[in-house]
Amino acid sequence: MPDTSTWILITGASRGIGAATARRCAEAGWDVAINYAQDSAAAEQLASQVQGWGQRALTLQADVADEAQVAAMFARLDAAGGRLGGLVNNAGIVAPAARLQDMTPARWRRLFDVNVIGTLLCCQQAARRMSTVHGGAGGAIVNLSSRAAEYGSAGIYVDYAATKGAVDTLTKGLARELISEGIRVNGVRPGIIETDIHGRSGMDAQGAAATLPIQRLGRPEEIAEAVAWLLSDAASYTVGALLDVAGGR
Ligand code: NAD
Repeated sequence: MPDTSTWILITGASRGIGAATARRCAEAGWDVAINYAQDSAAAEQLASQVQGWGQRALTLQADVADEAQVAAMFARLDAAGGRLGGLVNNAGIVAPAARLQDMTPARWRRLFDVNVIGTLLCCQQAARRMSTVHGGAGGAIVNLSSRAAEYGSAGIYVDYAATKGAVDTLTKGLARELISEGIRVNGVRPGIIETDIHGRSGMDAQGAAATLPIQRLGRPEEIAEAVAWLLSDAASYTVGALLDVAGGR
């Protein structure tokens, strides 16, 4: 059980996997900083739930792709007091299913800005605070990747899959770079999880899930469980792992 003044910052936490992770972290005894892009009502509702369980909660609006907004978000967390013990880079976007010839550079840039640059910006800010070399007490970072990083999502969203490939490479590289500063970096690669993201991509999630060995969609809580374990001291020797939570995909 962590001490009660330890924050976990979760990006894109107002719904889906991020919200389930926020609830799981609160249940584990951490204070939870809930980053959201736009849906303040959902973020506040989640914060009330976390506070109802006896943990502190802070809602932080920021577009993770925006350097100034990310810096301001971490400064607001500093002002709340307590230490940052963990970061979950969960915020992510897909674009409507498309083939290469129908994609635009603007789409690629936004996907990479949110999924890759957003992850880098938050890792940089978090590492400045957690690093034992810079006076911090160490910590853990978990990056949300995807099984798509491996199989490439041909004909649907190869660009999204490529952003997650970049997240995997960042996870492995940063894990090796930051472990000497007391920061464990790991990744979770979900399969097909029942969230709003599929409505945005136009993918037939139910149909795809039926082809999986487990023959069903995953639940956000099943991803949250893996994330919470990687954040915890129970995973103290786990560094640079990419954990597939994908029903056998
Ligand atoms: P979701 O669309 O329900 O949630 C994504 C969250 O990110 C939302 O709260 C959204 O507002 C937030 N977000 C988007 N852009 C943002 C920005 N610029 N700044 C801050 N927040 C932003 O999707 P989800 O399924 O819960 O996805 C969570 C993560 O898991 C994503 O990184 C996604 O790529 C990954 N993932 C999901 C699945 C799946 O099947 N659902 C599979 C593999 C990987």
